[in-house]
Amino acid sequence: MTDPLQPVSLWDATAQPLDPLPALEGDVDAEVCIVGGGYTGLSTALHLAELGIESVVLEAEKVGYGGSGRNAGLVNPGVWLSPDEVVGILGEDAGERLNEGFRVGPNLVFDLIRRHGIECEAVQNGTIYLASSDKYLKKVKDRAEQMNRRGSKVVLLNREETATKLGIDDFLGGSLDTEAGTINPMGYARGLARAALKHGARIFGESPATALEQTGDSWRMGTPHGTVRAKRVLLATNGYTDNLWPGLRQEIFPFYFFFAATKPLGENLRNTILPGLEGSWDAEEPTIAFRKDAAGRLITGSIGSLPEHGQSFRHRWADMRLRAHFPHLGELEWESSWMGKIAFTTDHLPRLNELAPGLMTVIGYNGRGIAPGTVMGRAMAHYFAGSSEVEMPLPVTAQSKAFLGPLRSIYYDLGAGFLQRWQLLRG
Ligand SMILES: Cc1cc2nc3c(=O)[nH]c(=O)nc-3n(C[C@H](O)[C@H](O)[C@H](O)COP(=O)(O)OP(=O)(O)OC[C@H]3O[C@@H](n4cnc5c(N)ncnc54)[C@H](O)[C@@H]3O)c2cc1C
Repeated sequence: MTDPLQPVSLWDATAQPLDPLPALEGDVDAEVCIVGGGYTGLSTALHLAELGIESVVLEAEKVGYGGSGRNAGLVNPGVWLSPDEVVGILGEDAGERLNEGFRVGPNLVFDLIRRHGIECEAVQNGTIYLASSDKYLKKVKDRAEQMNRRGSKVVLLNREETATKLGIDDFLGGSLDTEAGTINPMGYARGLARAALKHGARIFGESPATALEQTGDSWRMGTPHGTVRAKRVLLATNGYTDNLWPGLRQEIFPFYFFFAATKPLGENLRNTILPGLEGSWDAEEPTIAFRKDAAGRLITGSIGSLPEHGQSFRHRWADMRLRAHFPHLGELEWESSWMGKIAFTTDHLPRLNELAPGLMTVIGYNGRGIAPGTVMGRAMAHYFAGSSEVEMPLPVTAQSKAFLGPLRSIYYDLGAGFLQRWQLLRG
């Protein structure tokens, strides 16, 4: 277990603190046991509590320890793929069910934030998808057209409009998804936890589920100092999935994404760079994200882990990348850097598996999990309460194995590392 006082990200240090949660001691019963204290698990617990169904959340470390406390905080609709690509893979019925289910995700997130008074720097001013060349401009326009055809409110920005929003004249254009927005991701995770606790859910920290066995029509989850007996179990461990259930880890291939944050910018820069606090990310791959937090820190990141160089390399790379786009930044002071594991699947779609009767999992968000995790949590709560499978945004599928998963993880990590070193050398 890691030191709970050691921040896992900037967000961990700046979000409203959550009172430490007790570790599970002794044996408890619940209708539903949820493994994983991120958005998926916490949204399930909150929505179950609102439906009057008892649940217990087991979190190995602390709330938001996984991707939920480390991400960029861009609350976007849909999944990583475009809506037409989703239909191409899943077919018309299942594809459009997913598109519609996740299209409304940001509104669900911001509604929950308002309804439960969650303090997490929430700003629903949109997110900007950026195009640096004609090729990417076409990609941005195509995606916007596909989304608007399905009811989204995406506005195309020309070069000048993009420059005004971003504070730099470096992109040919972009699209602004007006229903999207930004949050302090750890603040949102803690707020979901607080709301779930208030409505009666039980959440235990530092309580890794280490054993899982079926006894009659129930499941028994073992932790170092206690057990939970429950009729239904949800494994909500995404990129942090361990060996609790055989083969589940092999369904995804995790890879790292890192971020670096400057110290708060001076007033002049703060007023010109992303003055509306929209989040932004580049259509070019590997993608780069830019955003500011409420205190005016500029945050950027890209894929890779770079463990051997750690903090100093991440700061140098981020410095170089920011300067390439924002040459007027002057001397930058860096405050922190961190990384998190993204759970990829071979077709870039999340998975909803029934692993055994009463044992479900939702994993594989492919780097887009704030709104989808929240949506899936609500859907799982309704499913456990008796709604039918066809009301779920994702089809229930059998467990599978990511083709060449470990090799893909190494390939992406090494590839990103080489590219970033090359970018640094080139200056
Ligand atoms: C660097 C980064 C940037 C991202 N940026 C964005 C973004 O801007 N927008 C967006 O929408 N998405 C983004 N994502 C994706 C998003 O963060 C995730 O998809 C989302 O947080 C997944 O939530 P979750 O609850 O399913 O899993 P997680 O938040 O990862 O939670 C899983 C939890 O399970 C716990 N766990 C694991 N095994 C056990 C066990 N045996 N017992 C008990 N607990 C266990 C872990 O400790 C962890 O806390 C990003 C992800 C990363 C890593």
